[in-house]
Order: sequence, then structure tokens, then C-alpha cells
Amino acid sequence: METVIKNQMVYAMDPDNAPVCHVASGTTLVFDTLDCFGGQITCEENGVDALDWDHTNPATGPVYIDGAEPGDVLRVQIHSIELDDHGVMAAIPANGIFGDQVEKSAVRILPVHDGMVEFRSDILLPIKPMIGVIGVAPAEGSINCGTPGSHGGNMDNTQIGPNTTLYLPVFVPGALLAMGDVHAVMGDGEVMVTGVEIASKITVTVDVMKNMQLLDPALETEDKVYAIASNAALTDAIHTAASALLKLTQDRLDMDINEAGMLLSACGNAEVCQIVDPLMTARFSMPKRIIGGWEN
Ligand code: CA
Ligand code: ZN
Repeated sequence: METVIKNQMVYAMDPDNAPVCHVASGTTLVFDTLDCFGGQITCEENGVDALDWDHTNPATGPVYIDGAEPGDVLRVQIHSIELDDHGVMAAIPANGIFGDQVEKSAVRILPVHDGMVEFRSDILLPIKPMIGVIGVAPAEGSINCGTPGSHGGNMDNTQIGPNTTLYLPVFVPGALLAMGDVHAVMGDGEVMVTGVEIASKITVTVDVMKNMQLLDPALETEDKVYAIASNAALTDAIHTAASALLKLTQDRLDMDINEAGMLLSACGNAEVCQIVDPLMTARFSMPKRIIGGWEN
């Protein structure tokens, strides 16, 4: 039986958030999530002018995973993301890379059906569901759900989707996992600050990993390992992410910095997650065929 987490959400990742439930390592959970506007946008006419910004970017949770301690890693296997039948996008003055050209806010409500987002009657976009906000509580302080960091949060990483495994460093007992801000589809960079924002049901299995260590989130897909990092400067985020895989490459393949660096330069990819949140997020990938998965 799956445990369903519903109608309980936070707007910041915070060690003082009261957990909605305690579960054992190995539990499969369903997170019922609202869109990043908290479901407040129900018609296109009102735009974003009536939005209560204090109730945006809700993350469902947090869930306390028994046995998780600071220094451990939380493994989150993402099995599926079931989408609602419509998504929302917005254009907001002073937001995103074209914000200075946006004079008036606008909202679009987009039908989602048959595996497609209907952007316009003649423009259909195949869905590629992803989780925008997913993270654990930081060691101290409160980090609002709009901000990414070592704890995860608003990473807006298009690769965090079904059939992938996310690894998060644990900073507090129980980890306090929460997630939301699902997108039916989003382009890398999220240049206008919204993907196709949508309510969803996310099915995951959580496990406490005692023999892994991470400073920042990491991801594994069918054929790639990724390190993820956030920083005020995109190049610094890329450097942090690439450095994590440089170290893994050196350890796994017994290489010095020069050889491992050349291998990264030959077959590793620096990729943009988002460039519009308070910190920017990058990921760096290497083929599993070359360096193996995060756990082996
Ligand atoms: Ca987001
Ligand atoms: Zn979003």
C-alpha cells in the first residue's frame, strides 16, 4: 500500500517544519501536488495581478524518513508523475530574461491531453513531466521554495522526471522531504520563469543510504549520472557540478586530474537547468557506461 501525502504543504524548506508523517526507509509514497501558483489561477482574464505571492511554490510534505541522519543520503526513486488535465503559464513584468520587455502580465491556461500540451490549436508540445521543486530541510534557517541550493529546492531541472533516481544530502534527522512545482514540459533555462505549471501526483520510493556522501544533489537516469549545483553565477554552478563528477571519475577510473579532466571534456556535458531563480542551477552529466552509477 502506498502512503498518499495530500493537502499538506510548506512554502519553505525549514528544519522546524512539522512533518506530516513518519515513514520507514523503503516506503513508496504518492505526493499530491498543486501547481506553482497554488492553484490560484483559474481563468486567463485575471492574470497574475490578484495572486497571493505568499502562497506560491507550495511543496507537499514534509515527510520524515525514519533513520535518516545528517551526513546520510536520501535516495528518491521517481516512478511516475500523473498530470492534471491543464497547465498554466505566465508572463510577468521584470521576471525572466525578457522581463524588461514585458509591459503587462498575461496568463495562459493550456489543455493537456493525449500526451500533448496544446500551446495553440496548431502548436502541440509532447509532455515531458518533471519536478521543479524537490528537496530536504537545510541544516539551519529557512529557504523559501522558490530558491534552489544544496538541499535541492527549486532546481527546475528538466531531467528530474519519471524513471530517474534523485539523491539528496541529508542535513537534519528525518531529512524532511517535500516536493511540488511539477511542469508538464519545460525548456532548459526556463527563460520566462514558468514551465507548463501543473498539479500532479508523484509516486516515489524513499531510501536512506548510509554508505553514500554528497555535498549537493545528484541524479541518475537510464544512461547518465548527473551532479547538480546552484550558485549566483552559472559558471560557478557548472564548476561545482563538474567537480563532483571529476572526483567520481578519478576515484572510479584511477586517473589523475589531467586525464580525468580530459575525459570530462571529451564526453561530459555542462547543461543549464534554470537561469531565472534567485540562484542559477546547472547540471553536469557523464555516461554511466564510462563511470558507472552513483551507487557502484
Ligand atoms: Ca520552479
Ligand atoms: Zn514551476
